[in-house]
Amino acid sequence: MSEHPKRGRKPAPDTERKDRVIQTRVPKDLESTLKEAAERERVSVSHLIRNVLEDTFNLVDNIIADSAQLVDTVRRDASKLAASARRPELNTEGKQAQPTVEGPSIDDVEAWQEVLVNKPVPCANCGLILARGAKALRGLSATSGAASVWLCPPCLSKI
Ligand SMILES: [Zn+2]
Repeated sequence: MSEHPKRGRKPAPDTERKDRVIQTRVPKDLESTLKEAAERERVSVSHLIRNVLEDTFNLVDNIIADSAQLVDTVRRDASKLAASARRPELNTEGKQAQPTVEGPSIDDVEAWQEVLVNKPVPCANCGLILARGAKALRGLSATSGAASVWLCPPCLSKI
């Protein structure tokens, strides 16, 4: 009744749903690994390979989707940062110009902490340069971001 299907030509409509066969050569040890894994999973080698391929491409798709989102988030964060970094310049009209940064003031210090200097620092009272390893007093200020105030130990009793 039905004519002989000619090999490789004009597949009948219902064959569209059939799975395609992809052949590949694998080294012998990979073949035995695949067979063992398939046995463990109680599936055919063909099924196992299909599962692995599907999982791999799903994984890759997800990773690509995630990185696209990550790039988006980073871009948004970066432009927020840039915007807030620019803001002070735009706000200068009403307010006074930025307070001129003078040397740190001893008046702002709430407490003195005895430390060993790592980089040379000047005493805020006498101007003596305290060298690395010297004992010094570092002023603790309530103003966050204030420049450090240093004092040489002899000056502590003079101020
Ligand atoms: Zn001093």
